[in-house]
Amino acid sequence: MVKDGRIEALLPADAAAPAGCSVVESQGLALAPGFIDVHSHSDIRLLHRHPAKTDQGVTAEVVGNCGFSAFPCGARAPEVRAYSNAILSGGEEAWEWQNAKAYLRDAESRSANCHVQSLVGHGTLRTAVAGARQGALTASELDQSLGLLRESFEQGATGVSTGLMYAPGSSAPREELLEICRLSARMDKICTTHMRSYSDDLLASIQEQLDLAKESGCRLQISHLQTVGRRNWDKQARALELLEQARVQGIDVEFDSYPYLAGSTVMTQLLPQWTLDGGAAAMVARLTDVAQRQQIQREMRTAMPQRWSDIFVAGTGSAKNEPLVGKDVETLAAAAGKDPGEFALDLLVEEEGQVSIVSFNQSEENLRALLTHPLCTVISDGFYVKGRPHPRLYGTFPSLLGDMARDRGWLTMAEAVYRITGKPAERFRLSGRGRIAPGYLADLVLFDPATIASRATYDDPEQAPKGIHAVYRGGERIGTH
Ligand SMILES: [Zn+2]
Repeated sequence: MVKDGRIEALLPADAAAPAGCSVVESQGLALAPGFIDVHSHSDIRLLHRHPAKTDQGVTAEVVGNCGFSAFPCGARAPEVRAYSNAILSGGEEAWEWQNAKAYLRDAESRSANCHVQSLVGHGTLRTAVAGARQGALTASELDQSLGLLRESFEQGATGVSTGLMYAPGSSAPREELLEICRLSARMDKICTTHMRSYSDDLLASIQEQLDLAKESGCRLQISHLQTVGRRNWDKQARALELLEQARVQGIDVEFDSYPYLAGSTVMTQLLPQWTLDGGAAAMVARLTDVAQRQQIQREMRTAMPQRWSDIFVAGTGSAKNEPLVGKDVETLAAAAGKDPGEFALDLLVEEEGQVSIVSFNQSEENLRALLTHPLCTVISDGFYVKGRPHPRLYGTFPSLLGDMARDRGWLTMAEAVYRITGKPAERFRLSGRGRIAPGYLADLVLFDPATIASRATYDDPEQAPKGIHAVYRGGERIGTH
């Protein structure tokens, strides 16, 4: 029974409805708490009530992930937008939130279908203070960034996220990262991280994070854990062991994963980090300089764990290159009569870096080991692109419940539901969420366990799922299919 937006009581199935209650018939259906996506890049799009998440039953999202958030902007709003929009897909909108309070207020009032919490993106924080410059901050810049972080925490930011594969955050010295972890630990905020590497240097990257957590005492969440590239697949068992051992030593570490073999990111992530120092114009200058371009090619050849045939163009900044969307780089390069590496660099130059990709990274066996691990929360990591987004944006939650739980039997239905409700609510301390119990918010999903399924595919991702009958926020119905 629901009253004033909250669950008032759980009545036995055969109880008569109390007077004045309207009754929802739900025979044969399952009622779950609203799904919670604690790793989302909907920061800007949720303001426009994009249906991709509501259709899946998501009623709460944590944004500001992987080092990218929509605040604080400091005095450098244009630079912050140029940085964060690479992942947030904020388009032409001249957003300029100075602090967590301003963003969270707008998010909560405009995103009527979804409760919003945000991490502070470390890359955004750094850009707000020092622009796209790489390397150590000056002492006063570091002070300023820690001041902004403290203010964001005081104003309700959920924690901080680092994005150590993205410039300029990737160039932060250890001392800067440690100060951020220390402040988070002191203020009891979670530290999430898109680590430095999920491929050749996966284990060293995990160790780096565990050391920071040990030294600072912070709560650590490894974002979208996976093992990228065939040659690294055998490292995953050791990676999970490292996390388990760390917990035995008292480090509070957990992780999250999305239920897909392919990842989704920006094409500039394939470049050596030094190529990105100073922003897009500086990158284009390096890619068009003969000597530097050769150096970049050499470094990419040894560092890239995927094959070019595993990497698909998902979106481009300009309309001119839209016909490339949905095709892999090897095929595109062959059609253009070019070497795939040369093709990719030419495309980055032409689009001034604005190319997003979908990349087939993982093995099925490893994906199963992640999703069934007791430390795993399931997330979408969904991000919007102008082109063909990764299907996880439209299908993560029904895919987990339908494909992974019911059809493959990797998890029981109840366990799968827990990993997108109770577990994320506990880990990110979303009070009043994640359970069906008296006093909890009446954010609920009514779905059919026999038919729930994602219809979003890599070729045709923008499809609403099957089997979700109704989604409620505060007891009000907000979405159906
Ligand atoms: Zn990430």
